[in-house]
Amino acid sequence: MLIQRITVGEIKLPLKVPFKTALRTVTDVHDLVLIIETDTGLKGYGEAPATAIITGDLLGSMRAALTLIAPKLIGRHLLDFHALLRTVHLSVVHHNSLKAALEIALYDLRAQQFGVPLYQLLGGGTPRLKTDVTISVNDSATMVQDCLRAVAEGFDALKVKLGGRTWLEDVQSTLAIYHAVGSDIALRLDANQGWTPKQAVQVIQALEAAGLALEFVEQPVKADDVAGLKFVTDHTLTPILADEAVFSVEDALYILHTQSADVINIKLMKTAGISQAIEMANLTRHHHRTCMVGCMLESGISVTAAAHFAVAYADVVTLIDLDGPQLCKGSAISGGLTMDGPWISLSDAPGLGITGVHGLTDVHQY
Ligand code: MG
Repeated sequence: MLIQRITVGEIKLPLKVPFKTALRTVTDVHDLVLIIETDTGLKGYGEAPATAIITGDLLGSMRAALTLIAPKLIGRHLLDFHALLRTVHLSVVHHNSLKAALEIALYDLRAQQFGVPLYQLLGGGTPRLKTDVTISVNDSATMVQDCLRAVAEGFDALKVKLGGRTWLEDVQSTLAIYHAVGSDIALRLDANQGWTPKQAVQVIQALEAAGLALEFVEQPVKADDVAGLKFVTDHTLTPILADEAVFSVEDALYILHTQSADVINIKLMKTAGISQAIEMANLTRHHHRTCMVGCMLESGISVTAAAHFAVAYADVVTLIDLDGPQLCKGSAISGGLTMDGPWISLSDAPGLGITGVHGLTDVHQY
């Protein structure tokens, strides 16, 4: 079973509402899509968003890096799976999101080759997950409205974006949300690096003093300020989660060893795909910790892959933040995951179970 053709293109889906964090405002999901085809007619699908401000990936830079990798994959045998992954990772440094898209497509093909859904190839599990949903940072009244709508849709965990304004506004918005939705709804705060360590402690301690049991606070400080992250973890009772601070197994190991955060957020677009996500999950288990699986602004292909990974590693991946497709108006794929409110279900079709992509533009073939 030889790799015969690699197709690259782009999909664009408008978001239901603008996605606003301390780092950026985005109105569309505009992602790179890869289709790797074999001489036996199998198609493996991959996807990567251009999250320049977090991973450094741009659509153009991913396409440019692909010119270095794709020709080296054509004509290779799929049974050479681990050598194929090495080619993906060693042909160019960085470009983690592109590498994730390539790995996702290769894992999709490998599972199809064996006739099993990807989660079974990765170890099995129950193919059903419950995700939270993101609430963008806005004025308090808008945030409360968005939260109440999400709760009415069945979500019982809200990922509330904060930061990029005064710490007092962040406290006031969180209190307003808490009083509107009640204590049965889990509140996950994500400052996206928007606070200084001292501001973070001030916000979290104020909310703790007001009696809020936050599920966790995510990436309160700058990605490269691990000492600041540890300061926040050491001075608050609320679990602290590391997101932008963790890309590699080495990052995760350092944060776990130094106890700089309580929980790690694994995203395939940061880990450069499934293989390092697996290593990170195993590392987390070894340290008797749990982790979250998250996504960038991604649509159905890469989020389906993340869901398969999460199902197979459900013993350590206990927090699910895979709302990307939920935030989009419409879908660009046939097959793959099914979303019903907070529930994500995976089919037992081989691989990712994706049968097609619609509306692909700027198509190029290798
Ligand atoms: Mg985050």
